[in-house]
Amino acid sequence: GAGLRVEDVVVLYRDDDGTTKAAVDGLTLAVAPGEVVALLGPSGSGKSSLLRAVAGLEPVARGRVTWDGTDLAGVPVHRRGMGLMFQDGQLFPHRDVARNVAFGLQMQRVPRAERARRVAELLDLVGLAGFGDRDVASLSGGERQRVALARSLAPRPRLLLLDEPLSALDRALRERLADDVRAALTATGTTALFVTHDHDEAFAVADRIAVMDAGHLLQVDPPAVLWHRP
Ligand code: ADP
Ligand code: ADP
Repeated sequence: GAGLRVEDVVVLYRDDDGTTKAAVDGLTLAVAPGEVVALLGPSGSGKSSLLRAVAGLEPVARGRVTWDGTDLAGVPVHRRGMGLMFQDGQLFPHRDVARNVAFGLQMQRVPRAERARRVAELLDLVGLAGFGDRDVASLSGGERQRVALARSLAPRPRLLLLDEPLSALDRALRERLADDVRAALTATGTTALFVTHDHDEAFAVADRIAVMDAGHLLQVDPPAVLWHRP
């Protein structure tokens, strides 16, 4: 199968008593190339653990994660070709906006002129045209997350993993940004897994919503289908 496949995956953690428990408990999910899937569920339902396991940041205790049919077990984080974006965009504070966005391109040794072209294109895409020279410390929270999005899209990851990327922002801003994230993912044809506990956000960004509870999937459907259920 093309794209991402999560097959019967278990992710374990040790709780405060030292007991081993499953944060993700035998979960199966496929994400097709170009598709945006939202993982929606309450806090503690295992969304982050699943995302981290896909990224290679968390061990998979059972089952497997594959990309285009290739098992990713043993493939280190930086070799998976995936991008990560978190709630706190974790921008480099001492680089201007353009140099933050260009970071992954420099790692990939993309030539300077091509880099400049792609940085300008991405800043335009996230609504920050002309912000290249700005100091990141001078940006608002929403602007920072736009820069973080541009930076994570720049290396053209085959899969972008977003963990509550808008949760630190206020509601009005979240709504606007959710639409803009959706537009940026669509324009770049990026395959993505987007973790959120916010229904509206999931509906705004996703082609399909995977509803998670207690380490399991309850339902995986397009927003329109979920919308029409009681
Ligand atoms: P979500 O992202 O949906 O909030 P998480 O994946 O963060 O859920 O957590 C799922 C469950 O696993 C929760 O009960 C959480 O407390 C527990 N958990 C995950 N990782 C750890 C850890 N390192 N230490 C303790 N508990 C953890
Ligand atoms: P350094 O000077 O540290 O070597 P670069 O000049 O390589 O950094 O800049 C990093 C990237 O950001 C380059 O691709 C550069 O063209 C691009 N860049 C720098 N300033 C801007 C800007 N104002 N708008 C768009 N791209 C920019």
